[in-house]
Amino acid sequence: MKTLKSYVCGGWHEANRDFALLYDPSTEEPIARASSAGIDFPAVLDFARERGGPALRALSFAERAGLLKEMSKALRERRDELLELQALNAGATRPDGAFDLDGGGGTLAYYAAIGRGLGSSRLLADGDSVQLGKSEAWSGRHALAPRRGVAVLVNAFNFPAWGFAEKAACALLAGMPVVVKPATSTAWVTERCVEILIEAAILPEGALQLVCGSTGDLLERLGAQDVLAFTGSATTALRLRGMPNLLAASTRINVEADSLNAAVLAPDATAGSPTFELFLRDVVREMTQKSGQKCTAVRRILVPTAEIATVEEALVERLRQVVTGNPADPGVTMGPLATAQQLADAVAGVAELRRAARLVHGSGARCDGQGSPAGKGYFFGPTLLFAENARAAAAVHSHEVFAPVATLLPYSGSAQEAGEIVALGGGTLVTSIYSDDPTWRREMVVEAAPWTGRVYCGSQAAAPEANGSGAVLPQTLHGGPGRAGGGAELAGLAGLRLYQQKVALQGTRAELAALLEV
Ligand code: NAP
Repeated sequence: MKTLKSYVCGGWHEANRDFALLYDPSTEEPIARASSAGIDFPAVLDFARERGGPALRALSFAERAGLLKEMSKALRERRDELLELQALNAGATRPDGAFDLDGGGGTLAYYAAIGRGLGSSRLLADGDSVQLGKSEAWSGRHALAPRRGVAVLVNAFNFPAWGFAEKAACALLAGMPVVVKPATSTAWVTERCVEILIEAAILPEGALQLVCGSTGDLLERLGAQDVLAFTGSATTALRLRGMPNLLAASTRINVEADSLNAAVLAPDATAGSPTFELFLRDVVREMTQKSGQKCTAVRRILVPTAEIATVEEALVERLRQVVTGNPADPGVTMGPLATAQQLADAVAGVAELRRAARLVHGSGARCDGQGSPAGKGYFFGPTLLFAENARAAAAVHSHEVFAPVATLLPYSGSAQEAGEIVALGGGTLVTSIYSDDPTWRREMVVEAAPWTGRVYCGSQAAAPEANGSGAVLPQTLHGGPGRAGGGAELAGLAGLRLYQQKVALQGTRAELAALLEV
């Protein structure tokens, strides 16, 4: 059986005890084991802070951007191998594996492109100068400097490639060394990505380290200049946020957590219209892509009461065509859930939702998967529920079932009411709205904006290019308020800020411009 290694202090570390097993989710066969036992975590931090950090900071933005470009290229060259591993370790179909892998490579390439334009400055200007005195002899300007610590990137199981790449792209471009900690269940994919990057000898020593297995006492040792970038469940986030050393040192923490994303159909987008068709296409994709194991997946579907029977019928018709099974089988369109725990959580989660909603498609139980032996594999088919009373369906607004599961919720058609129902989710990563009526759309955006990180406006005009509300693009914000974690990632250069210290500079306007080389 494969033993995953960690890459620390310039070498590969293989543990000899305390292993957690990784399984092929289509067959339940153990495929690998992982442990971080024996890693000297203080040395990992020292290596990053004393070797990786200075080496990265000695490079210009443009040079660091060059590293990102090489990273993207190295991963792309091994795409086929990595897609096979995605199927084995994460149960991902080829399109689902590509969504993760190409998303990671694309994000690295995007930051390479914008980093090239930042030149050689060691401080990044943030905004224009402002006059503070009677003349420009006394002015102020803000600048951003790389933090001097290490960025620890803790990721969820569902995006083993994109998850580390999107965080690493921003941290490395900002000039911070990273320690990558993937979720153990799908860590083989991340381990292989890091191995490819190390073999390609792209980054300076200490810029990229990998921990497979538990973080040991790593997080207890983070301090004032370090960053903890976390993606995962709200429960784990709460535990990490409360760590006394992180609170005492004001260690930067970014949290990307659960989200009960909503898709809202407007009353003007009636059956048969291109916007209605876009809505159906998006909802089915966002329910079933990666078997619903996406933080941006649609969990709540708001439809005007007058259209809800039509929508229910159309969705059931499309969900029936989804073929759940082993990604190795060419006829399969949706893979298994990633782990036995995810399957158990999905079964328990649907039972919880059924307290407030009735099942209209799916069984709420495990199913057999095409191409896998009967009784084996963590398969869970697409599942649609219907709650008659949207506001009263408390479980639907509080319980994230991380599987291909969503609930239909009728509403009157009023944007204000839809906004209030969206808000019951307590803060989401994305809200998708479908309308060709500018007045309704404007009202809906105003209602939803305080409760969501991104509003995806589906319409007839946008339909030819709209790529689905679940796609996280590096140009725009990823993160949401409240239960979504309150985090902010990506959004172009803003994505670097987590890894930079903002400083206000005061002096003459010309001196400040010279300092910042602008
Ligand atoms: P999880 O159980 O919270 O684990 C997330 C990560 O935290 C894993 O790497 C895990 O490592 C690590 N971890 C757990 N306990 C820890 C501790 N005490 N100290 C240090 N690290 C610890 O979440 P998950 O099951 O992997 O992911 C599913 C959740 O992630 C869902 O709720 C989903 O909504 C959310 N998610 C959010 C986003 C977003 O961008 N907002 C993206 C993807 C997923 P081990 O695996 O070794 O335990």
